[in-house]
Amino acid sequence: MRCPHCQSETVVKNGTRRLHDNQIVQYYRCRRCAHTFNERTGTPMARLRTPSTVVEYALNSRSEGMGVRATGRVYHKSHATILRWEARLARQGEAWSPPAPEGSEVTLEGDELYPRVGENLPPL
Ligand SMILES: [Zn+2]
Repeated sequence: MRCPHCQSETVVKNGTRRLHDNQIVQYYRCRRCAHTFNERTGTPMARLRTPSTVVEYALNSRSEGMGVRATGRVYHKSHATILRWEARLARQGEAWSPPAPEGSEVTLEGDELYPRVGENLPPL
């Protein structure tokens, strides 16, 4: 694991958070620049404000031949948003994170994960 901020390899584990779908996300802390980050930082899923399932479905629709404007109408996004998602994924290729299970609503914003529910979780 390498720090996405300074590329240092001197990172230490900094705890985990459990999403409400029981997915465990490992957090890390960089000893050089002191940034914290998680496994998704730097992937196409980081910084997205749309649930990853919506992005996945929309891009699946595109790959099935649906037009970009039609896809935008179906998922209530602008066609510019659809194109931006496609560009992200095209750049990142294999870096796509495991898709969130259906029904989960993981909101990814900034460098952290903010599950909409799950703040009252028991200690790990
Ligand atoms: Zn760093």
